[in-house]
Amino acid sequence: KDGIYLEIQTTLYDKNDHLIFVRDVTRLHLLEKMRKDFVANASHELKTPLTVIKGYLETLEMFKDSLPKSMQKGIVNMSEQSERMEQLIEDLLLLSRLESDDKREENQWHKVSNLVESIQNITTPMLSKQHFLSVDIPEEARLYGSYKELYSAFSNLIVNAIKYSPDGGSIYVTWESSDLNGVFSVKDTGLGIDPRHIPRLTERFFRVDKGRGSKTGGTGLGLAIVKHVLLHHDAKLQIRSQPGNGSTFSCHFPASRIRTDSIPDL
Ligand code: ADP
Repeated sequence: KDGIYLEIQTTLYDKNDHLIFVRDVTRLHLLEKMRKDFVANASHELKTPLTVIKGYLETLEMFKDSLPKSMQKGIVNMSEQSERMEQLIEDLLLLSRLESDDKREENQWHKVSNLVESIQNITTPMLSKQHFLSVDIPEEARLYGSYKELYSAFSNLIVNAIKYSPDGGSIYVTWESSDLNGVFSVKDTGLGIDPRHIPRLTERFFRVDKGRGSKTGGTGLGLAIVKHVLLHHDAKLQIRSQPGNGSTFSCHFPASRIRTDSIPDL
């Protein structure tokens, strides 16, 4: 009733002959759908109990000062962990939405500088006094796509650059365009990544250093979200990095998705 899914591959057999392989992948497709539905439903169901726990924690926090020191520490710990769990659920739900084709936001033209400006509102409090953040986005640069999705992708890249840059680090957010493409880049002078880890970075829950990830409060889903958003926008992610010398994450958008003229339509 849901149709049959076939995978077709052709290969040159002889000078003039081709071999055609047809594989029935219906079962694989159904299993993949079950996995996606399970993650979406489980994440959704986890939201309600977490809201209740967070509610009681807020009440406990109001009376924190009258409690013994050991309990005060426990409350702070529980609050931090529940924030983390909330972020994890939000990221899982976002990934589920990105993977399903329905409920997609309508594409529109957006000013890249506006997107980055609103991201800066949430990232500024994360920056320490020793961090240096430079944003160089031409006013006329525009992107065609979903504001929410592009916001998630760009904010994940900027937040990562801050998270993985020790104090004293610099972060450069730039936009460059040509007739062929538009490139949004986030460059940092932080910890960098060993080249052997780069191909796995966009896998869900992959972290170079699990210990480092839990200290920085990451969910391990950020770059998986970036990958899906870019896929929706016909764009490609390029990662360049050297351990100890920082990283550059660049999103390459095709010419059809960018505009650099100054037509006042926004
Ligand atoms: P997380 O929530 O752990 O940050 P991400 O999917 O965003 O998850 O990133 C996956 C891993 O890639 C991170 O745990 C980190 O090890 C590495 N990483 C991502 N961005 C950077 C960066 N700018 N500098 C160094 N390492 C990074």
